[in-house]
Amino acid sequence: MRAQPKASHYINGRYVEDEQGEVIEVVYPATGEIIARVHSATPNIVELAVEAARAAQPTWARLKPVERGRILRRAADLLLEHNEELAKLETLNTGKALQETLVADAPSAAEALEFFGGAVAAFNGEQVELGGSFGYTRREPLGVCVGIGAWNYPIQIAGWKSGPALAMGNAMVFKPSEVTPLSALRLAEIFTEAGLPDGLFNVVQGLGDVGASLVAHPEVAKVSLTGSVETGKKVQALAGGEMKPATMELGGKSPLIVFDDADLENAIGGAMLGNFYSTGQICSNGTRVFVQSSIYERFLSRLTERTSAIRLGDPLDPETHLGPLISKAQYDKVLRYIEIGREDGATLHHGGGTPRLQGLEDGFYVEPTIFTDVTDRMRIAREEIFGPVMSVLTFDDEDEVVERANDTPFGLAAGVFTQNLARAHRVIGALKAGTCWINTYNLTPVELPFGGVKQSGFGRENAMAALAHYSQVKSVYVEMGDVESPY
Ligand code: NAD
Repeated sequence: MRAQPKASHYINGRYVEDEQGEVIEVVYPATGEIIARVHSATPNIVELAVEAARAAQPTWARLKPVERGRILRRAADLLLEHNEELAKLETLNTGKALQETLVADAPSAAEALEFFGGAVAAFNGEQVELGGSFGYTRREPLGVCVGIGAWNYPIQIAGWKSGPALAMGNAMVFKPSEVTPLSALRLAEIFTEAGLPDGLFNVVQGLGDVGASLVAHPEVAKVSLTGSVETGKKVQALAGGEMKPATMELGGKSPLIVFDDADLENAIGGAMLGNFYSTGQICSNGTRVFVQSSIYERFLSRLTERTSAIRLGDPLDPETHLGPLISKAQYDKVLRYIEIGREDGATLHHGGGTPRLQGLEDGFYVEPTIFTDVTDRMRIAREEIFGPVMSVLTFDDEDEVVERANDTPFGLAAGVFTQNLARAHRVIGALKAGTCWINTYNLTPVELPFGGVKQSGFGRENAMAALAHYSQVKSVYVEMGDVESPY
């Protein structure tokens, strides 16, 4: 299988290569085959990309917002036209099942471009009455923004960052994860086809050092990172050293609380989606499932039954629910956590192994796994695993579960299942998390801001909040009278 791009980088509206850069091998996680090779960006490539963005941005910023928006909406339409091809590419690069990538990847990027392409025209400053005189605020672009992506939703992340950045009149240099370099290049081509002027969306490849050199570049005004807390701290420190604003979309260990009056089938469906979708590689996953003791047995028995029906297999087969993990490194990490769970005394209730799949013996597959008898201090209940591993914990009352749910350095997401409306809103109000769900889990529509609190990050993607984070406010005082000077 081959998915070789025309060249490694996309700068100023065209593909660019520099073979001096270290080779990055791109692997199909279902078989371990190498499907492409790209080169990491050399300092020369980084310079070219930032310079292209810097040169293109001022003219772009002077267009009317609806004119910028029109191009983004055209790009959204093109993404949807190419959805099948993009879904296959994303499946080849990530191993995620085609039935997921057809609905959750390029379509989500398209929705971001469509939303911000329209919304930006309504995102204005304010007029402020000052008693005779007045003031007004302008929402101005920041200039060159850097987007740095994780590997779990490559094209979605590229769309969620470039959509609001470009709509607001910025230019972007995007560095995908070194594990998933391919689909951002296709997004760049599609932007060009949609009429985006050259230089406004550039893609450079590389590892953390390339990301760091972009963040530190003096012409770069802002950074938006999706990645782990560990990387977030480094990038934040670097950006802070230059007083550059940053958006940090980081990891989590989110609680999902199921009260005894919940609709059981919905709660189980939410817990499964919030742990197994994308083979568990979703930042907002509700990996600590707190179930009220009185329904624990019923919950566990149906959960087990439904989990047993999950089909692992060839990700390109439309019947497959779950594909492999992204990489050998992630596979080793998840299996190690399964061992740690057992060593720490949790019960491996379901899964935990590597399935035998004919023709896919070298794929990075791990079965959907459920641990029971998990306590709050165990590492599997405290650390982000980023794999299909659910920890089920029990609780007796509301105050207790809220306290335990909040006892984590993370604060990305949280969910509550209950039919008691007052309790649902009261509990959500008490949970320290940036993105919450009542009676569902993991839905992230573009209309709602998405992001975390505590060590899960700050700043928001999606909704008008993202436009705010890709702009700065200028306050203008307009004097209508004379200047009253004592001098
Ligand atoms: P990672 O932190 O290893 O890498 C993320 C990106 O940062 C990559 O592009 C990487 O090359 C780059 N990077 C690494 N070191 C850097 C440095 N010093 N300076 C600049 N850039 C650097 O994360 P990952 O393994 O790719 O992704 C998984 C993590 O991402 C998980 O923790 C997950 O929770 C998180 N994530 C968060 C969200 C969210 O929206 N909150 C979404 C998806 C994934």
